[in-house]
Amino acid sequence: MKRSFGCIVIGAGHAGVEAALASARMGVPTLMVNYSITTIGHMSCNPAIGGVGKGQLVREVDILGGEMGRAADATAVQFRQLNMSKGPAVRSSRVQSDRMRYRAYMQEVVRYQPGLTFYAGEAVEILVGQGRVTGLRLKDGSAFDAPAVIVTAGTFLDGRMHLGPKITSGGRIGDPAALDLARNLESLGFVLRSFKTGTPPRLDGRTIDYSHLQTQHSDDVIVPFSARTRDIPSRDRLLPCWFTHTQEITHQIIRDNFHLSPMYSGQIAATGVRYCPSIEDKLKKFADKASHPVFLEPDGLDTPVVYPNGISTGLPETVQEAFVRTIPGLERAEFLCYGYSIEHAVIYAEELKPSLESKSISGLFFAGQVNGTTGYEEAAAQGMIAGINAALSVRQEAPFILRRDEAYTGVLIDDLITRGTDEPYRMFTSRVEYRLMVREDNTDERLVHYGRKFGLVSDEVCRAVDDKYARVRYLTRRLRDISAAPLEINPVLEGLGLIPLGQKMPLYDLLKRPGVTCAQITPFDGELASVPKDVLARVEYDIKYEGFILQQQKEVEKFRHLENIRIPAGFDFGAIGSLSYEAREKLRRFKPETLGQANRISGMTPAAVSILMIYLRKYFAEQKH
Ligand SMILES: Cc1cc2nc3c(=O)[nH]c(=O)nc-3n(C[C@H](O)[C@H](O)[C@H](O)COP(=O)(O)OP(=O)(O)OC[C@H]3O[C@@H](n4cnc5c(N)ncnc54)[C@H](O)[C@@H]3O)c2cc1C
Repeated sequence: MKRSFGCIVIGAGHAGVEAALASARMGVPTLMVNYSITTIGHMSCNPAIGGVGKGQLVREVDILGGEMGRAADATAVQFRQLNMSKGPAVRSSRVQSDRMRYRAYMQEVVRYQPGLTFYAGEAVEILVGQGRVTGLRLKDGSAFDAPAVIVTAGTFLDGRMHLGPKITSGGRIGDPAALDLARNLESLGFVLRSFKTGTPPRLDGRTIDYSHLQTQHSDDVIVPFSARTRDIPSRDRLLPCWFTHTQEITHQIIRDNFHLSPMYSGQIAATGVRYCPSIEDKLKKFADKASHPVFLEPDGLDTPVVYPNGISTGLPETVQEAFVRTIPGLERAEFLCYGYSIEHAVIYAEELKPSLESKSISGLFFAGQVNGTTGYEEAAAQGMIAGINAALSVRQEAPFILRRDEAYTGVLIDDLITRGTDEPYRMFTSRVEYRLMVREDNTDERLVHYGRKFGLVSDEVCRAVDDKYARVRYLTRRLRDISAAPLEINPVLEGLGLIPLGQKMPLYDLLKRPGVTCAQITPFDGELASVPKDVLARVEYDIKYEGFILQQQKEVEKFRHLENIRIPAGFDFGAIGSLSYEAREKLRRFKPETLGQANRISGMTPAAVSILMIYLRKYFAEQKH
């Protein structure tokens, strides 16, 4: 086996897979190191990809050439589009996947990826010389050289699992913890802290009584994640989920046993996931709620395992059995595995550049849960960026940085590196200030040129995206030239409760009226009848929201102005006496690369940013002379 690579990726979870594939596909010989080949692409928690704010990340990974969207589509047992009654800015997709098939899919992709080598073992020491990565040493004594290493160790760094009072070392159930790697990172100067997450028990579906439970089926119209998905699973391969809920008696049992929950007994001090709380957290935080929803999600096609989404817990086994069996439908449920909480170490992502490379050690990149995020999608998006940037650094090319106004991934990374996070970070649409422009439905338009630039998406996909948007632009123009006469359109307008027309009006202006859709104007332009739904939806959106989009574009221009003012490496923030001590300390710690990043550091005041801008102008003027 070769001993020398361009890039080494530690870990084969959601970040690791995307990072290794991106790097190898960019022509950099890549080594993936993971404890075992069988856990490549494993979903540690629920068998689902996407969700509000997360679906956007999956599509971004996909159009940059990543695998998550394709894997989710190929192994889906349910497709849903969320928030469809709301505006396009907050709509997201979610796929329920077959856990075993998802993993098998990823393992096959990794196995057949040219330029990617797999090695089963435990990474223990990142080799560094003169401030640069030089390779990696494994527990079995083997060592590999590489100028770039990406750490995607997930929940494994110092992982400790809690089940009631029992504490076991491990990265997740059945897997060891990465203890040596954690010590190695500390010895390299990284400060580690603990975050916590948890998972519910797994139930035997054959012992669940579904007869009185509400069912949730796949959408009728299936929209895949990936621009490259050609075959959608047939309807007979789709499965429903079921809906049930906790009861007062469930809550009583949990309350009576709070003292046995590792989060409330003082056993776990780490910060947990605010937006994916355990059932114990829910009862503490929403004490007045009489019931909490529980979604019973099938784990796959050939398994009886059911994932009860909503009751993540660290309570002891007997308490889990007692409270779960008070939930309608679960009265006789048998447990295949108990829920547990996990504490694990993360780095401070403020230590990273926007490329996800360490500020202190060149060639060392971090991606995924290890940066303080939670979720498969957040991990995959970072993995993609770290993989591309590791490859670019090996090729000695400029880093790839997505801005906040062009991608959810840009917001995710910018939030992590400029604001840091005190709790596991999960993506939401509300975090994205330019979400009218950065939506799930226009991901291909926003990002395909990057996929093309890095050679990560095929010409066929690029051409299809170009054709689609040429058609959108053509139709948008065309609707200005075609009008509807009052006699024809007034019945439609009256039906919608709108003021009828006195004279003819271009279809473009009609579409701006509230409630008027492309479907209603299609009879006035024969060409529209043959236009694909996604193209029509896009035309409608651009016309209806034109005013808002223009407003947001102006804001983006202002934002880019600050973003374009670069702060030179090594700039001496301490020398700016007119800045407060706190502002100087923060700038010294975060080392922002642009004035925009400095502006987003929490606690930086507009006055401090103005002072910094004046100093930068002075600095650049002096450099010119
Ligand atoms: C119990 C539990 C509950 C969770 N609950 C939720 C939840 O409710 N909501 C949510 O969004 N997310 C949850 N997650 C988190 C979710 O699983 C992660 O966000 C996601 O898997 C992160 O992906 P990743 O690629 O960063 O890391 P992981 O998927 O954890 O992958 C890490 C990989 O690194 C490998 N590895 C680590 N150290 C070494 C080493 N030294 N040598 C070799 N290989 C190594 C591991 O084998 C693994 O393949 C939960 C995770 C666990 C374990």
